[in-house]
Amino acid sequence: MTKILVDLGKCQGYANCVVAAPDIFDLGDTGRVELLEATVADDRLDDVREAIRSCPAAALTLEEPAS
Ligand code: SF4
Repeated sequence: MTKILVDLGKCQGYANCVVAAPDIFDLGDTGRVELLEATVADDRLDDVREAIRSCPAAALTLEEPAS
């Protein structure tokens, strides 16, 4: 499992991540991203990587498991 890291100080609520992976990202009442899942199963990694790429604020990163 790969962990998603969010820098809420950078998140501007653009919601690109929600569009890319709505089962994993949501926007909370604060207008900042909320994680619906803190870790990503391997079969969801492509969508999460797309969400990270599409974030204009570069607020999302992946903590890759040590191999
Ligand atoms: S795309 Fe980036 S800035 Fe927008 S809500 Fe998601 S994490 Fe926040």
